[in-house]
Amino acid sequence: MKRRKFIERSSLTGIGIVFSSTVINASPLQNFNQKQMNKFPITIATWNFPNASKRAGELLSQGANALDAVEQGVMVEEADIRNTTVGKGGAPDRDGNVTLDACIMSASGNAGAVVYLKHTSKAASVARKVMEETPHVMLAGEGADLFAIQQGFEKEELFTESSKADYQEWLKKKEYKPIINIENHDTIGMLCIDKNGDLAGACTSSGLSYKINGRVGDSPIIGSGLFLDNEIGGAVATGMGEAIMKSVGSFLIVELMRQGKSPQEACEEAINRIIKANPNTYKEFQAAFIAINKKGEIGSHCIQKGFSYVKYQADKNENILSSYNF
Ligand code: ASP
Repeated sequence: MKRRKFIERSSLTGIGIVFSSTVINASPLQNFNQKQMNKFPITIATWNFPNASKRAGELLSQGANALDAVEQGVMVEEADIRNTTVGKGGAPDRDGNVTLDACIMSASGNAGAVVYLKHTSKAASVARKVMEETPHVMLAGEGADLFAIQQGFEKEELFTESSKADYQEWLKKKEYKPIINIENHDTIGMLCIDKNGDLAGACTSSGLSYKINGRVGDSPIIGSGLFLDNEIGGAVATGMGEAIMKSVGSFLIVELMRQGKSPQEACEEAINRIIKANPNTYKEFQAAFIAINKKGEIGSHCIQKGFSYVKYQADKNENILSSYNF
């Protein structure tokens, strides 16, 4: 029997057994669900991107579904040239190429991703087109750019004057040591739960500044930068993509929540595994997760102090400092 069918049938049976007598008013189970539903919609996003969470949150309040909200929300940062690690204005690789990576996931478990996108800032939207218009999950490089143009996306120059100036400075030193919490860590990962209690998520990034040409991080990798299961919850990541990929962190968090851990406990466990796997280097990089479950409970944890996330709920935007190990 398919899992969803099994759950539907067993929950129906459960209600039958518990509430089969003369219950006329709302059952305790329904009350509980109603209580949960009152928390919705909710938007959370990595780092302090209040304009992005507000955009998604307002759309959700107007009745938008989670997928539309998450796409429009992250697009705010993709278009902001002041953000040097997402979309237009992103820092280039060592050879001067600005390349974008993104993925998106819907409540149905469908997913799309793009990597090494060079000519369109709306990377999460292109990922959504891959999800909805192709039989594939991921498109890369030239093929991804061509697909975007065919889908009607405008061809853009992503390398801004300011990023070019920073790059020229970088070329003089050629140092490759990201400053924790400042440089390289502004990827936006967003999770939305809409009024119906359905989830969607997106993660979009220009990746590590001054990476080797061709490098792809965790952000577009389903299971690493983003994962969700509409029965359980979702998680997104930011920070050193190599460490996050090796731990398949977002998938791990959702699976830990499935086993009964709270979003906070699950995020802590995922960070502890990264620390354990990198005993000699973990103090030199940041890795952070945020997660939400179907009850609307939120968790967040990171290696180094300084990571925060935004939550938009009930018309209020809040920037919340994450718990950390060091
Ligand atoms: N996770 C991203 C990457 O490794 C970087 C970031 O979060 O800023 O590509």
